Amino acid sequence: MEIVIEELSKHYGSVRALDGVSLRVPGGMFGLLGPNGAGKTTLMRILVTLLAPTSGRVTIGGIDVMRDPAKVRERLGYIPQEFGFYRSLNAYEMLDYIGTMKRIPPRERKRQIEAVLEEVNLTADAKRRVGTYSGGMKQRLGIAQALLGDPDLLVVDEPTAGLDPEERIRFRNLLVRISGRRTVLLSTHIVADVEASCTGLAVLRQGRLAFAGTPEELVERARGRVWQVEVE
Ligand code: ATP
Repeated sequence: MEIVIEELSKHYGSVRALDGVSLRVPGGMFGLLGPNGAGKTTLMRILVTLLAPTSGRVTIGGIDVMRDPAKVRERLGYIPQEFGFYRSLNAYEMLDYIGTMKRIPPRERKRQIEAVLEEVNLTADAKRRVGTYSGGMKQRLGIAQALLGDPDLLVVDEPTAGLDPEERIRFRNLLVRISGRRTVLLSTHIVADVEASCTGLAVLRQGRLAFAGTPEELVERARGRVWQVEVE
């Protein structure tokens, strides 16, 4: 599902968290890179209708995010950087609760919960308390809750605090699989990971778009020392 961002700005007093960003995300798996404070979270929060921009326009699948937020919300799933879990519930109960909040009717809810647990490979652990999950399992459960309601777009704001390398690769592979059927927008600090898994990417720096293109083009540019890739 295509995302079109036009001249998007968000200012907090004199802080320009976003400053005239224009970008087209055609679909597939798309990476959003940038150092701390570059504006990635601000951009994602605008896309998922949690934050109003100062100016500019965003459409997702042709729907205007500011004009028709409810319609946009129906079509997307969001994994915020700090995702809160109900530690005393098991994964099935947690998904059931979130599915209820999303107003998915009971029979359909059960079907979807079983499907998303399978998709993120947590079926065998569905009856275990979430508090006992590893970091990687929690991240996959975060994806599962976002997939309830069968969205066309998944917006993933990756936590800075790390998973171990093996869990990270597993998580990337899961997102790549998901992006076969839906658009995935992934915000991350880890350049190597997006190079390997994304079909397109953008780099933000101080609220401005520093680069948009394919991973190969980014590597070429960095090699040509036109500018330095300043992400961690
Ligand atoms: P990180 O990778 O650390 O999450 P980021 O790229 O997501 O960083 P943002 O969180 O979007 O960056 O922040 C962009 C800039 O806007 C930063 O300078 C930040 O301090 C500022 N900012 C964000 N939210 C607010 C707010 N509510 N009030 C004032 N300034 C803010």
